[in-house]
Amino acid sequence: MTVHFHEEDLPADVLAPGPVAVDTETMGLITPRDRLCVVQIADGRGDEHLVRFGPGSDYAAPNLRAVLADPDRLKLYHFARFDIAAIRHYLGVVAAPVYCTKTASRLIRTYTDRHGLKELVRELLGQEISKQQQSSDWGAPELSDAQKDYAASDVRYLHRLRTELDQRLAREGRTALAQACFDFLPARAELDLAGWPEIDIFAHV
Ligand code: MN
Repeated sequence: MTVHFHEEDLPADVLAPGPVAVDTETMGLITPRDRLCVVQIADGRGDEHLVRFGPGSDYAAPNLRAVLADPDRLKLYHFARFDIAAIRHYLGVVAAPVYCTKTASRLIRTYTDRHGLKELVRELLGQEISKQQQSSDWGAPELSDAQKDYAASDVRYLHRLRTELDQRLAREGRTALAQACFDFLPARAELDLAGWPEIDIFAHV
């Protein structure tokens, strides 16, 4: 299990075929203002890749973009809505098809309002992860080892979570509803970027 660190793009052919876990770290929560600093990606075989973008990056990243835009590669996220918007805005690709562990959790873990990654990993996989570096300076010239470990841990468990969540979605008869929600997520991210961030366009008033 190794964390690989790259500047400005993913090397070619470092990922095995199949679904990839994806996460992003940014300067904050307002996507057009707060630049994309790191994209983490993992194929589920045990290694994680971190791609760091410097200030003033052109976000060309042809290898990373090709993986993210590949229609045959499922992308696993935890809270896909945010990551898809950041990737769309900075890297210019729609990183679909989508699976979102947070959305799946909301559809089946109806007995709790705690749908954070830490809670999911603890309850479904019995492991502990630290979220201590979540609100740190991802634009710093040197990322600390703690930041790199944290960033990698955000994609480390998503393949295994998907397996657990899929079993529960099937058990509760919500597989098709979850898929419909996943398929809508790129449009939800587009609404965020286009000026409807906190407005529910399906609401009556
Ligand atoms: Mn993260």
